[in-house]
Amino acid sequence: MTTHAVIATPGAQVDAVGIGRDFGSVRALAGVDLTIAAGEIVALLGPSGSGKSTLLRILAGLEQPTTGELRFDGRSQLGVPPHQRDVSMVFQHYALYPHLSAQDNLVLALRYGRGMSRAAARARADETLRMLGIAELARRRPAQMSGGQRQRVAIGRALATRARVVLLDEPMSGLDAKLRVELRVEIVDLLRQLGTTAVFVTHDQAEAMAVGDRVAVMNQGAIEQIATPDEIYDLPATRFVATFVGSPP
Ligand code: ADP
Ligand code: MG
Repeated sequence: MTTHAVIATPGAQVDAVGIGRDFGSVRALAGVDLTIAAGEIVALLGPSGSGKSTLLRILAGLEQPTTGELRFDGRSQLGVPPHQRDVSMVFQHYALYPHLSAQDNLVLALRYGRGMSRAAARARADETLRMLGIAELARRRPAQMSGGQRQRVAIGRALATRARVVLLDEPMSGLDAKLRVELRVEIVDLLRQLGTTAVFVTHDQAEAMAVGDRVAVMNQGAIEQIATPDEIYDLPATRFVATFVGSPP
């Protein structure tokens, strides 16, 4: 086990230092440093297999790092189980309960994830569905919704918890281009309204540039550059970044 001199960054909501993860002989993450300010949206951009999901799962507590340290608000999170972290996650494939209505999917997450009473959970669920403009879906089960509607509900479920950190793993994959643009605008609006800190994973460079206050470009388990979209585009730090984001030569 490598030891790192861990210095928490003041004011940081998320502070990951030297995060490594091996799966057998596969090095999924090779020492990632990532500091995210409260309320900031970071887009994690990279090709398939670059380690984006592994990093997100480590932030969520669904996966343990082999090396490194992780702090939220200065407090170490290693060993803290997912439900005790102030995070919620949106998965690529919705992961809604198929036998429950939209409302009950949210209520369940709030009662068991957040320990809310049935009445409070119901009120929060309805409020959140309204904020997302999908109040009319409250009683529908996932099979009775379109893909875009299902993904709105899944996002609603993550935002309803009011977790300070929301992790989104390619939340729009599988949706058509027009819907992706609509939905990403809505998601960013909501995250801003709630002041939520967010990590938004995508392999789509235009999406990353549109969503992120900063964009972290990943390649082979490492962040090659993290900077504002303009900086990434105009001043790519490596040839890989330039090629991947399509910067002018
Ligand atoms: P991305 O989300 O960027 O596509 P991942 O984080 O899913 O990348 O994967 C990074 C690397 O780690 C890949 O080589 C992948 O095959 C490997 N990997 C991820 N999860 C596991 C696992 N549970 N077991 C073995 N290898 C894994
Ligand atoms: Mg992935």
